[in-house]
Amino acid sequence: MILSATAASAVSRPAAVRRDIAVRKISFNNPEFIRGMDISSVISLENSGVSFRNAEGEAEDIFKILSDSGVNYIRVRVWNNPYDKDKNGYGGGNSDLEKAKIIGRRAAENGMKLLVDFHYSDFWADPAKQQEPKEWKNLSVSEKCEKLYDYTKTSLDAIKDDGGDVGMVQIGNETTTGIAGEYATSNVAKLYKSGIKAVRDFDKNALTAIHFTNPERTEATKDLADMLSDNQVDYDVFAVSYYPYWHGSLENLTDVLSYAAKTYGKYVMVAETSYAYTLDDSDGHANTVSRWANNEGENLLWSFTPQGQAEEVRDVMNAVNNVGEKGLGVFYWEGAWITVGDTTNLSGSEYNNRLTENKKLWESFGSGWASSKSAEYDPDDAGKYYGGSAVDNQTFFDSKGRALPSLEVFKLVKTGSVSADVLSGDADGDGAVNINDATVIQLHLAEKLTLDEAAGYAADIDRNGELNINDASLIQRYLARLSTEFEVNTMR
Ligand code: CA
Repeated sequence: MILSATAASAVSRPAAVRRDIAVRKISFNNPEFIRGMDISSVISLENSGVSFRNAEGEAEDIFKILSDSGVNYIRVRVWNNPYDKDKNGYGGGNSDLEKAKIIGRRAAENGMKLLVDFHYSDFWADPAKQQEPKEWKNLSVSEKCEKLYDYTKTSLDAIKDDGGDVGMVQIGNETTTGIAGEYATSNVAKLYKSGIKAVRDFDKNALTAIHFTNPERTEATKDLADMLSDNQVDYDVFAVSYYPYWHGSLENLTDVLSYAAKTYGKYVMVAETSYAYTLDDSDGHANTVSRWANNEGENLLWSFTPQGQAEEVRDVMNAVNNVGEKGLGVFYWEGAWITVGDTTNLSGSEYNNRLTENKKLWESFGSGWASSKSAEYDPDDAGKYYGGSAVDNQTFFDSKGRALPSLEVFKLVKTGSVSADVLSGDADGDGAVNINDATVIQLHLAEKLTLDEAAGYAADIDRNGELNINDASLIQRYLARLSTEFEVNTMR
């Protein structure tokens, strides 16, 4: 746990802080590294009656909670018109421009920039679905390019006018197979270019991102970087989704992103990741990651606990950081899409009544992944399987809306932290306090070995922020029963 052959460069306690979760520090190559979160559905949740509380249990604006926890960037998806002709929402947050304006303003009020994720669709866009907005049906490619330019420019202007601080814009979402109903490479490239031009005309300092998925298809993903270059698409950020259940190893992720960074000089990032802190459902709609379907093809590295969730976030950030200074950041996907009505521990008629109420909220406010009204646009999937949140077990808030300890990972990655169950005095990490702990501290002071963060925290018995001979002396006095200055067990 602690021993390193190299001498300490400075005799001081590692700067880890003690928290409910242990987080290994990252030394970021890019000082502006983005520690972002997508909370696109949050307005529809609030409209459904959901409220959020900080880790102390106090009610607070979720944007402040996120900012205080170290999140420095917010991502929001934008659908052109996720409504039927009677203005009934398709669900998935009914994520239209009006909601993006609110999210952008509240993010800016709490010091966070905005990544605007245009899907150029009226509902979910991903590798299986890249349907153009209803209004764009039957248009030629050049007409679509005009529409896409105008929509991008006017939407960004509106978000900015409402107080949003747009730092980055995605031209499409998971556009691995196409965008806005176009699938031929030459047409896709034209649409990208129209979007990028709109962003440049909006604000030449805003970054433009192209977002793909399935980085586990290593060569195919690198081919996409080649395709963008071959077609002279002048973008800034090469982005991928990374869901560890399906998307390969962290080493492969670093490799794929490094290719775009080193070959083409692009910034790279993970635009979406998430991890389950529990396998329990809390809203009556089955979750994507559950006891029976959580690790297709992968041996997962992390437990399904808040600690495991925090480690996943940290390790994905580290994989992007390992690219070098072109590693721009990581966004966590829908970290607040909790239940609109907690079904935990309910059964029988109580459960059924709660589920009935939840369904009404999902239909009325769009706070589920899809409503029945989406059938007119997506009859084969959303129209059949509509319902609630499929990711309420991958959020950073429990089913009552209280922040989980894992949320602090967004801050703690900068300093590192040690778990609250580290035993004071246990410098060698063997689970007990004995004379070897005093010896280990002395060896650290003599620069014969280096203590890691958890050990350094445990060894700093007098809690003065640095290791010195007094810490070793306190252990010796404790063992000789000469001192009651330091009570091992009460300092856990
Ligand atoms: Ca659920």
